[in-house]
Amino acid sequence: MKRSRLIYALLVLSVFGLLAIGIFRAQHGGELYTYSRILMGTVVEITFREDASEAASAAFDEIARLEAIFTTYRKDSELSRINAAAPEPVRVSPEVAEAVELAIRVCELTDGAFDPTVGPLVRLWNFSEGGRVPRKEELEQALAFVGCHNIRLDKDAMTVALSRKGVSLDLGGIAKGYIVDKALEVLKERGIEWAIINAGGDVTFYSVDPSERFRVGIRHPDRADGLLGTILVGSGSVATSGDYERYFIKDGVRYHHILDPRTGMPARGLRSVTVVSKEAYLADALATAIFVMGKDKGLELAEKMEGVDALVVDEAGGVYTTSGLEGVFEPFEN
Ligand code: AMP
Ligand code: MG
Repeated sequence: MKRSRLIYALLVLSVFGLLAIGIFRAQHGGELYTYSRILMGTVVEITFREDASEAASAAFDEIARLEAIFTTYRKDSELSRINAAAPEPVRVSPEVAEAVELAIRVCELTDGAFDPTVGPLVRLWNFSEGGRVPRKEELEQALAFVGCHNIRLDKDAMTVALSRKGVSLDLGGIAKGYIVDKALEVLKERGIEWAIINAGGDVTFYSVDPSERFRVGIRHPDRADGLLGTILVGSGSVATSGDYERYFIKDGVRYHHILDPRTGMPARGLRSVTVVSKEAYLADALATAIFVMGKDKGLELAEKMEGVDALVVDEAGGVYTTSGLEGVFEPFEN
């Protein structure tokens, strides 16, 4: 209990952006060490129970290496090269092959609610440069290139091909989680037995002690510095997708970055989705997918998946969870 309360304090602090090693030292008798680096467009923090600066560096380096492969912000990344070469196949690294395979699997599992070919839609909305509402015809044109059937992964030849020019991969809904999974592997290889990786609010815990529980704060959709509540989880990942992460407001309407691949429009109905899963890639991708699927279908999917739980906040502010989180979610007095 004592440990979980401490971790809770730690996460509250990190959510509030007040992360300072001095504070943790004071609270934990000098036992927690946090390292941070700006990566993947966010602050990534890794916390240990011992001074593990070399392990932290190795994990950060792995994140930087993979970020350079997966980014679509750079023309020379592997992902950009696949997009530019369509319909020709491109030789890929084992990591891109694996991430593409996982993305296709989640696409199929969620009936296309998660779709790694949303690239043409993402480009139209242009959230990274302030954003604009596309015209109806523009959306219709872009939608003709969307659908995971357009991806050809050849695991023998280690190539990825897109069915035709204009199809474009965007792994923004899964890559962060996938990369965190790889960073955790690096830590484990180095003998680390306890760590927390916080990638901009998406948190992965690891402890060799299977009985260990961590309390994690879930952000309030309307308050950047406020918590909706907390949940208690074992080793694994907790990822949140929210309409407050990347958005613009036009004529009083909020347009955000989680797009419904059927319409090309920002998905409506929910404010945020938090997913708990053993693997970070799955928590990340399912949070995006469930946001698109909506409360009923989304929670139904999470409910039937082994080791997966979800919590959704709808537009009325109602909080709904899978049965695994009933009584586990504790609302927070803001
Ligand atoms: P996340 O913040 O994990 O929900 O991921 C959102 C990002 O994933 C967006 O910025 C897009 O790059 C991409 N994306 C948006 N909508 C979808 C979707 N329906 N399926 C897969 N990726 C998406
Ligand atoms: Mg995601």
